[in-house]
Amino acid sequence: MSPFTSHMQAALAEARAAAARGEVPVGAVIVGPNGRIVARAGNRTRELNDPTAHAEILALRAACAAAGSERLPGHDLYVTLEPCPMCASAISQARIARLYYGAADPKSGGVAHGPRVFDHPQSHHVPQVYDGIGAAEAEALLKAFFAPRR
Ligand SMILES: [Zn+2]
Repeated sequence: MSPFTSHMQAALAEARAAAARGEVPVGAVIVGPNGRIVARAGNRTRELNDPTAHAEILALRAACAAAGSERLPGHDLYVTLEPCPMCASAISQARIARLYYGAADPKSGGVAHGPRVFDHPQSHHVPQVYDGIGAAEAEALLKAFFAPRR
């Protein structure tokens, strides 16, 4: 398995763990310049009673704490779902180098949909974006999670 594939598999594992906790199944990992995962997280909005506790935000906080820096140049973020506008903005502010995401999110995404945060002139740092990575598996997790609630 290429590092590229295995990092998204690690994010999908976080998404599955989030589902098991009753959270929307989204997972993220951050990979440092050395190619190793430095932070991993899944959604914890319900557990923490915190609307900002998205997988990406929690992973960014952990990676920044580990780096002792508010910025993460040379780091890559893998997330199973298209980031929302809040997370896209945080990814930009953290100076993440590359963003890999899985499923598209026409309803709440902020990268290819909605405000398209990185295309906005106020986005001072724009990561390289690669979409559709592991999308089928990420979509299946989300569908399975929301299906019983309809
Ligand atoms: Zn988000």
